Amino acid sequence: MSDNTYDVIVVGGGHAGTEAAAAAARMGAKTALVTHRADTIGVMSCNPAIGGLGKGHLVREIDALDGIMGRAADLGGIQFRMLNRKKGPAVWGPRTQADRKLYRQAVQRLLSEYENVHVLEAGVTGLVRDSSEIKGVILDDGRSLRSAAVVLTTGTFLNGLIHIGDRKIPAGRAGEPPALGLSADLTALGLKLGRLKTGTPARLDRKTINWGILEMQEADADPIPFSFLTDSISTPQIACGITRTTPDTHRIIRENMHRSAMYSGQIEGVGPRYCPSIEDKINRFGDRDGHQIFLEPEGLDDDTVYPNGISTSLPEDVQCAFIRSIPGLESVEILQPGYAIEYDFVDPQQLDLSLAVKGAQGLFLAGQINGTTGYEEAGAQGLLAGLNAARLAAGNNATSFSRTDSYIGVMIDDLTSRGVAEPYRMFTSRAEYRLSLRADNADMRLTPLGIELGCVRSERRQKFRDYETARLELYAKLETLVASPAEMTTAGVPVNQDGRRRSAREVLSYPDRSWDDIVRIWPDLARTDRKVADLVAIDCLYHVYLERQNADVLSVRAEEDRPIPGDFDYMALSGLSNELKSKLAAQRPLNVAQASRIEGMTPAAVALLLVHLRKVP
Ligand code: FAD
Repeated sequence: MSDNTYDVIVVGGGHAGTEAAAAAARMGAKTALVTHRADTIGVMSCNPAIGGLGKGHLVREIDALDGIMGRAADLGGIQFRMLNRKKGPAVWGPRTQADRKLYRQAVQRLLSEYENVHVLEAGVTGLVRDSSEIKGVILDDGRSLRSAAVVLTTGTFLNGLIHIGDRKIPAGRAGEPPALGLSADLTALGLKLGRLKTGTPARLDRKTINWGILEMQEADADPIPFSFLTDSISTPQIACGITRTTPDTHRIIRENMHRSAMYSGQIEGVGPRYCPSIEDKINRFGDRDGHQIFLEPEGLDDDTVYPNGISTSLPEDVQCAFIRSIPGLESVEILQPGYAIEYDFVDPQQLDLSLAVKGAQGLFLAGQINGTTGYEEAGAQGLLAGLNAARLAAGNNATSFSRTDSYIGVMIDDLTSRGVAEPYRMFTSRAEYRLSLRADNADMRLTPLGIELGCVRSERRQKFRDYETARLELYAKLETLVASPAEMTTAGVPVNQDGRRRSAREVLSYPDRSWDDIVRIWPDLARTDRKVADLVAIDCLYHVYLERQNADVLSVRAEEDRPIPGDFDYMALSGLSNELKSKLAAQRPLNVAQASRIEGMTPAAVALLLVHLRKVP
């Protein structure tokens, strides 16, 4: 193989690109990561945080498949908090604020462990192709690189345009030029592109904030690491401040709304509804007396503060005025103004479940280019695309995840079957099987699959096997430990005095009982590894529901594979719209899984199709 030839080329060293390159490398592919600047690998373009509701699940799944993000978050995390702790473990959201510098350094160090990833500093301006077969990329210095597969992860850089009031600056993010040229090649391949936008708040000088009057939010006392490989968090933990916008803030924004890039008609791209700018909040929820703002330090030795909750595209003078109307920020100095950015994305309905572009052999897309927003969403897609690019290069079939095994599967299915009308971000409510798709059991769900696919390295393989053995042994042991109500009461764990002896597993299935109660009854259990104990306790709590859900999952999987005869008469299906019947008849899906992904197929339409298919002899 010559120096300019690789198995896989990944374009872009953002969150999708690093996971893609690392995954391809774990699969044994000779991989090139081509990115504008090596020192920006692992940069967080916007908020200095990893995880959150739904997003934390994705980080745990990336980690379960031996990806980078979870370990980097553990090394750079400076405020670990388990969100939603008051609700059931299924929807807990692990999150940490990150020290930007430590996180970036961690990503770069973890990536440098891969000997078969070659980082090249260059801009990619086009694709080398032979008809619809992608054979490599063209660099901005005129050179070209060859490969069996290319993964594009261009983030917010494709034709990126920053807006601050009426100022427009072509850029991929603040201070970095946009990526030009590639969009034209994608359009030439017949792909449909669109415009989306996102925004970021001003950055503030920590020294000019009146911290003394602010409510402070501390980190959890017992930070839970993201990665299965991390035993404990050693980075110092910090607090962040909480403040609110005031009626005066709202007045200033309202009076200047016409100067906001988003509201003066200058931006055509659609923004994220779930991550609204402060202008959106005032417009949509104007009657509220204030909106909460978290003042998040961007690092342990960095004076920059990220005011979470006030992203904006207002001109700089208005930003300064409205920010100074907020308690604690009366004398604040702005280090960098907030801005909105518009960029090209590719309609993800043109991808298959492996993130390969349909009809273009060897081309994969991952991250913000597919219409998503967020580091976690990008990283998870990057991992899948890198894995499949390496499989293609090695002559293997593509692989994919299912809605029944992971949030990654939920996201990819949503993107490829429904497309996006606005930047897509993950929520736990998007997953149908929340009880089994928990953040805490991501390793159990995905590491075995990763081992089978070959993307899990030996350290994790061994540790996982030991852990799995310990888990199964503990689960079995808890069934054999039994005590009477009297013995439990003596131990300080009262239960119904019905004389019935109960097992430790049964006691743990009561929602008001915890592992600590079990240890009070059976003190020997105190020696159990806490991580194993917590996981088993949750399994016991959900045992009955999980059995039911697993049965549902099995029947969905069985139905997904149900074939549809080639001559099936869709037009004779009563109860479906004529439009849907025509689409099905035109696309002729091979099985129910494919049919369910056709645009417009609702769960009710799938159920109807199944009723008729069951009648087919
Ligand atoms: P990026 O992280 O953007 O990385 C792309 C990388 O590719 C860069 O390193 C770039 O240099 C490189 N690159 C691009 N094109 C080329 C090329 N042609 N040749 C070589 N290298 C190339 N997410 C949220 O969840 N919430 C938010 O509120 C939010 N706000 C944001 C606000 C702004 C202003 C920006 C810029 C982003 C925001 N994001 C937000 C999005 C978040 O930053 C992205 O979702 C995430 O970084 C996407 O990861 P990615 O890997 O797809 O792309």
